[in-house]
Amino acid sequence: MLSFASASLAEEDMAVTCSKCGGGRFELGSVSSSEPARQFTILHCAACGQSLGLPEIDAVRSALHEQQTTLNDLRHQLNEIRDRLEKLATG
Ligand SMILES: [Zn+2]
Repeated sequence: MLSFASASLAEEDMAVTCSKCGGGRFELGSVSSSEPARQFTILHCAACGQSLGLPEIDAVRSALHEQQTTLNDLRHQLNEIRDRLEKLATG
């Protein structure tokens, strides 16, 4: 069973320790899922193998969320501009 770390890797820069054994050394490994068939890179404890989560998925999810927020802001601003233009055009 994989555990998912909620903090980003950047926030974990200081004193990251394994939640299972307290170890401080980590390695990259990989796991695969069957549906959809994909392979993911994970960070796991070098001593006991406890997973720190799926940094790629977390990073992608975070980036997608940021982009979605930016797109929503832009859409809102475009609507405002369109409204102003329509008011100008109709006098
Ligand atoms: Zn460990």
